[in-house]
Amino acid sequence: MKKYIPSQIEPKWQKKWEEDKLYETDLASKKNNYYVLVELLYPSGDLHIGHWYTFNYGDILARFKRLQGYNTFFPNGYDAFGLPAENAAIQRGIHPQDWTLANIEQMSKQFKTGGFSFDWSSLTITCLPEYYKWNQWIFLKMYERGLVYRGKTLSNWCPSCQTVLANENVEAGKCWRCGTEIVQKEVK
Ligand SMILES: [Zn+2]
Repeated sequence: MKKYIPSQIEPKWQKKWEEDKLYETDLASKKNNYYVLVELLYPSGDLHIGHWYTFNYGDILARFKRLQGYNTFFPNGYDAFGLPAENAAIQRGIHPQDWTLANIEQMSKQFKTGGFSFDWSSLTITCLPEYYKWNQWIFLKMYERGLVYRGKTLSNWCPSCQTVLANENVEAGKCWRCGTEIVQKEVK
């Protein structure tokens, strides 16, 4: 057997998969459908070992189900809204959109080196209007039916980051990111 040199073998076959649209799924199919989603990950900049670890299981399952004859849909996407993006952009003096989309490009490039069998034609990016217009539409429908309301509540607030923090992001009463003392603030 010839020596396995990933940098030679992988790009060759990944290019072939892409040309053949091997992992693009027929979403109109009515039979034998199987759906695998790991998560829409947060685009923080670079994939870390935890991403490789968890996404490998999804990839193994998707490949296994395809071999069993299932019409398997294995999409990927980015949950790309949030205060961390805004704070990172403030720190770097750039627009949150530029920072977020650059990270998404970088992380997708990294995923592609791993040869994951995602249906890249179905990539979901939640900060793009094509996606969030539907969230807003659903929300408006709930509002029209009286199922949602606007209220006030006390939340963990970091005066330095100017953000609300989840309980697990408060460490001994201080912000996990900057160490500032957390206060309880009434927010809408
Ligand atoms: Zn902070």
